[in-house]
Amino acid sequence: MTKVRGLVCVIAPLLALQSAMLHAWSDHASLAWPLMRVMPEVQTAEPLRVETLSEFVAAERTSIADLLNDHEQWARDNLEHYAALPAELVFDPALPDADVELAFLNAIRVNPTRSYQPYRQVMSFETLSEQDALIAVSELTFLQGTIASNDSRYVGLASGDLVSAATVLSTASDEPDFGLDIGLYADNGTEHGKRYGFGNQPFGNPNLEYGSQAPFHMGFYHLDWLTSLAQPGLLQTYPLYRTELYRKLAVFAFSTGHDYWGWRFMGWGLHYVGDLAQPYHAVPLPDTGILKSLWIVATGKTGEALQLVSNRHGVIEAFQKAIVANALVEQDWGQSTLHEVAQLSPSALWARNSLAQELTRDSAAGAAGLDQALVQYAPPKLVSDPAFEFSQSPEEAAILDAIAAQGEGAEEGLTASLNQQMQRFTYFAQAWIRGILHSQ
Ligand SMILES: [Zn+2]
Repeated sequence: MTKVRGLVCVIAPLLALQSAMLHAWSDHASLAWPLMRVMPEVQTAEPLRVETLSEFVAAERTSIADLLNDHEQWARDNLEHYAALPAELVFDPALPDADVELAFLNAIRVNPTRSYQPYRQVMSFETLSEQDALIAVSELTFLQGTIASNDSRYVGLASGDLVSAATVLSTASDEPDFGLDIGLYADNGTEHGKRYGFGNQPFGNPNLEYGSQAPFHMGFYHLDWLTSLAQPGLLQTYPLYRTELYRKLAVFAFSTGHDYWGWRFMGWGLHYVGDLAQPYHAVPLPDTGILKSLWIVATGKTGEALQLVSNRHGVIEAFQKAIVANALVEQDWGQSTLHEVAQLSPSALWARNSLAQELTRDSAAGAAGLDQALVQYAPPKLVSDPAFEFSQSPEEAAILDAIAAQGEGAEEGLTASLNQQMQRFTYFAQAWIRGILHSQ
């Protein structure tokens, strides 16, 4: 058991570090846009009439109560490490209208302290019209980190407004990073965390602003037996609980004529599909087998290994964000990453085992290649120097210059590896969208 305990030493602090960077792909809305603009099922959808969450829940309260009960039973039957919904949180359809929204948020166990008001993200290339009222990001999230400091623009929507399906879907696909899954654990120091029944946070650093969403935005479904044994907390993840619930809610909303909420719930679920297409969200130690893990422990290099993985994770996200932002503002749809996201796979269709089996298995299979590409094409200081902290560094803000300084072929090489991840993202994104639309 000494070896097993040694492995715990590797993995436990690693997860604490990783939790500092949990956006996976940065700005999911911009990343999804090249697909939204070409996917026929999205483009041919009628404009959506906006409804508040309270209006939707109040109108369909009885059926929603049944759906939530069915989902709870499904989760208990199918999710091995599931923490059951406490009885006092079961949605009560007899509540007065004014109380149903909060009761719904409690029943699906998302953070009830943020606003779920209708809004849309404005794409970087869009010019605002006179009736567009920009709202501060602080109206949408209490988070102070990267979202608050980014330069995305948001416009408030009111009940009855018309908005396109592409806009609702792309906007909602970024929304789970706005705090929905923050503070849900008993030891997170929140009032709702004490009531939600998830117990204490199984991994990730609860002291970091983003740390507590780690078990909801990461899914280690393909751990080796030794890691599972040494660190069973890594198995207590909830992406499947979230995606399956949002899939059911989306299908239900469409079937009852609440199309705005159909696309918005679809977008919420799409977020987790995107996160788990990121190898660093599906594998705790990329390119590190059992023997290598044990060797790292035996040679006392644990802290160094953790810093390298953390830096590589940060570099690919900064690189993706910069590549996409530069191409999107120019509407350069021929740029290779945007082009890859826009490749249609008409036969891709979501199945019950798509997330835990197909998607994350493919992410795990791609983890070593991505890790190696980062080592090959990024400056050694950024990805191979354990004394360097990439997060918040000047290089993070100027990542394209740093990669270009590596010489000819570096940006192309890293872009090619990024685009391989995009193939996975867009295939499963299309499967997800089509799976819900075909269920109606
Ligand atoms: Zn996320």
